[in-house]
Amino acid sequence: MYDLVIIGAGITGTMLARKLSAFKLKAVLIDRENDIANEATMANSAIVHTGYDPEEGTLKGLLNVRGARQYEQICRDLHCGYKLTGAYVAACGEEEEKVQDELAERAEKRGIAYEWLSGDEARTHEPNLSKHVTRVLSFPETAVVYPWEVAIACAEVAVNNGTELRLNETVCAIDRTDSGWCVKTDKGEYETKIVINAAGVAADKIYGMVGDHPSFTMTPKKGEYFVIDNDVHYTDHIIYPVPTAKGKGVLAVPTVYGNTLLGPNSERVEDPDERGCTFAGLDYVRENLVKIMRNPPFNKTIRNFAGLRPSSSCSDFIIEEAPDAENFINVASIESPGLASAPAVADYVIEELLKDKLTWDKNPDARMDREAPVVMAKLSEEEKKAKIAENPLYGKIICRCEQISEGEIVDCIRRTCGARSVKGVKKRVRPGMGRCQGGFCEPRVLNILARELNCSPLDVVLDSPASRILEKENR
Ligand SMILES: Cc1cc2nc3c(=O)[nH]c(=O)nc-3n(C[C@H](O)[C@H](O)[C@H](O)COP(=O)(O)OP(=O)(O)OC[C@H]3O[C@@H](n4cnc5c(N)ncnc54)[C@H](O)[C@@H]3O)c2cc1C
Repeated sequence: MYDLVIIGAGITGTMLARKLSAFKLKAVLIDRENDIANEATMANSAIVHTGYDPEEGTLKGLLNVRGARQYEQICRDLHCGYKLTGAYVAACGEEEEKVQDELAERAEKRGIAYEWLSGDEARTHEPNLSKHVTRVLSFPETAVVYPWEVAIACAEVAVNNGTELRLNETVCAIDRTDSGWCVKTDKGEYETKIVINAAGVAADKIYGMVGDHPSFTMTPKKGEYFVIDNDVHYTDHIIYPVPTAKGKGVLAVPTVYGNTLLGPNSERVEDPDERGCTFAGLDYVRENLVKIMRNPPFNKTIRNFAGLRPSSSCSDFIIEEAPDAENFINVASIESPGLASAPAVADYVIEELLKDKLTWDKNPDARMDREAPVVMAKLSEEEKKAKIAENPLYGKIICRCEQISEGEIVDCIRRTCGARSVKGVKKRVRPGMGRCQGGFCEPRVLNILARELNCSPLDVVLDSPASRILEKENR
């Protein structure tokens, strides 16, 4: 009998699993994907927003501020990338400046640091800011992370502390039992006291398995991006337009590893499996970015991608025990700023919803941090030599663009919650993230995976179990 079944191993489910694993609770984290963080958590702007944007009185407003303040420490404990870039909200003209005033008022109330800059002052720091920008509201505490890296690290900590992880398992039905719930997947059944529904765009379907009339419907919104090569230095700060009813608008975002993201649009889609980029979506990004930025480096694009926001018929996060299903907890409608809010969402679930339902004995063996991975690019020449002497695989470069060694790839496969696919390796240590997008390193990564997983190269997958790369071996 489990205390908790958590459905969904995105940032919401994994952050919660990590925090719960500090206690003696029997928990299992289930995801239908072949890896942690393969959906919204994999494809977003990666910004730890400080929390000036959500409206007063919302859960988003409350939890964004609290969550953002935890990120730096969490990333330190988990050895995840965290870059304090600061953010500029750029206004063009008086009407937009009025919106900035409202944002500054909210920031003031919430204790969020901000500064005012004239357009010209801002352009001395950010020369690619458009000449049409008249005033900038600067938020120096805004940061970027690598969202899936944080989620994978949270899952690793939770699993090290005893949480079970089941990937490639789709929850198909949830039945009421005398002592709670029976969660049925395509691979097995889990008797549990409590179910946490953190299933992103599928949260309404999961709720529909227990409630006759789910009180919300998911209405996913797609966001599309350009990824710019890391040899282009476009901005130091995240640059936003002023927000509108449609969202935060088209941004320029410097990433943790030196690329720039340009996007996203925000387009409602009917099909939650519709994740491809479109000409219309990318054109929208092109046309709107130039309202606040000049010289957009679209000719240096190395990739485009799209993500689906888990938006719903409700404009706020839905974090509550379902009114018609005791001990079934929805953590749904976690659209932006869901990444930034995730640590506080987990606290809220534990403190406001679970506190009286479970016994909270400390797990005496739990560690909330994780062992630092070896990152050769961060080492001094002396340290590199020592590592290579210890293990020559650290001296064998597999990914030329990002300078990733075979030793680092092997480590990421062997770790708890290790990579099981080419994309899994890419998410953990970045081969394939650079200019050649895997053209050079992908066959080598494939062979390393086959060797480490003790399988035929024919069985190595790009991502899902159905995504085999090779048809036959050429010997
Ligand atoms: C374009 C875009 C830009 C964004 N930018 C930002 C930003 O800059 N900052 C910010 O704070 N937030 C941002 N967000 C929002 C943020 O990405 C999300 O709030 C967050 O990733 C949601 O995480 P999640 O774990 O709730 O959902 P997900 O990451 O989608 O995880 C849900 C999981 O549930 C699993 N699942 C679904 N159904 C089943 C089933 N039947 N059985 C088993 N598993 C199932 C899925 O496989 C998935 O892994 C953005 C989102 C998008 C799309």
